[in-house]
Amino acid sequence: MPEPGFETRAIHAGQPPDPATGAVVPPVSFSTTFAQEAVGRHRGFEYARSANPTRQALETCLASLEGGAHGLAYASGLAAEDALLRTLSPGHHVILPNDAYGGTFRLIDRVWGPLGVSSTPADLTSTAELEAAWRAETRLVWVETPTNPLLSIVDIGAVAAFAHSRGALVVVDNTFATPYLQRPLSYGADVVVHSATKYLGGHSDVVGGLLVLDDPELANRLSFFQNAAGAVPGPMDCYLVLRGLKTLAVRMDRHCHNAAAVADMLAGHPAVERVRYPGLRSHPGHDVAARQMRGFGGMVSFVVRGGEKAALEVARATEIFTLAESLGAVESLIEYPHRMTHASVAGSPLQVDPGLIRLSVGIETIEDLLADLAGALERASS
Ligand code: PLP
Repeated sequence: MPEPGFETRAIHAGQPPDPATGAVVPPVSFSTTFAQEAVGRHRGFEYARSANPTRQALETCLASLEGGAHGLAYASGLAAEDALLRTLSPGHHVILPNDAYGGTFRLIDRVWGPLGVSSTPADLTSTAELEAAWRAETRLVWVETPTNPLLSIVDIGAVAAFAHSRGALVVVDNTFATPYLQRPLSYGADVVVHSATKYLGGHSDVVGGLLVLDDPELANRLSFFQNAAGAVPGPMDCYLVLRGLKTLAVRMDRHCHNAAAVADMLAGHPAVERVRYPGLRSHPGHDVAARQMRGFGGMVSFVVRGGEKAALEVARATEIFTLAESLGAVESLIEYPHRMTHASVAGSPLQVDPGLIRLSVGIETIEDLLADLAGALERASS
């Protein structure tokens, strides 16, 4: 039988019916400890921080969807990022996107910086900039594509070829795209990182993170850190992400469809200065995105005319788009990066435009979403 398709793996990989009862949904395993037949003789589970059946199902399922050999789950996306950064040593250097998610920048700059890991933000859409940021100590290139919140597109294959020629690893934050739209390992990335809090969970009701990779040696080190440092997710959280994965493909199709319609409407609206959506031909990364992604995703960012004041008005005036942080769930959200998700990068090279608004376009009826945004823009500009 050929390898099952994405949707089939999303529903079945790592979670066959429970052999004890036939339950089609394997039971959530809450036990913290597991009986041993004799000292050291057990069925792969001893203590739940080291391994837990529900977490293992999630790790297996996401690894399969990303096309990687190993998956590791964490208590949050940032915990997953932190675990990966533990593979570096003082003196090492990281290059990260100059519009990376603010929390990633804060973690690398303010947690790992004082521990001796230096970093340089760079525009990774340009190989010349990547080269200019390079140092002899560079060990890791951190890619986000599309980026948060500007939705820049980085050519993963080009960055991987460059980084590998100089002996560094490439990690791709695939939170915005999900494995349904983009598979970074297939373009040469070494590690994929996810905030499962977003599209993987998909319903704004669970915080989690994952790493997926192929290299067995690195996987062993990460697995040691996962147990030794212990930032693991609980079984119920793993179950919620597993359940989210089952509908990932159909949700992403609708997110892409709705976001494209929103981007088109905004691009033609007089109150809007510019729109960032990789699906628009005007987006500088459109061609790379079209090659690298199956669809252009559910996130749309735009700058309103009138700067901060107008942006704050729009963010307040929508009714279906809820003013809230986070993204990637079934409901539409609107947020103001300058003072919300990206407040931690104010005053840094990653500071965002005060007129910028970010939308996480949900899967509601598209006509309702378009009317909500058009109404908010009208009220804000009147
Ligand atoms: N990566 C991206 C692109 C994100 O947007 C976020 C959170 O917003 C994270 C990582 C961090 O994930 P978490 O909030 O699950 O720790």
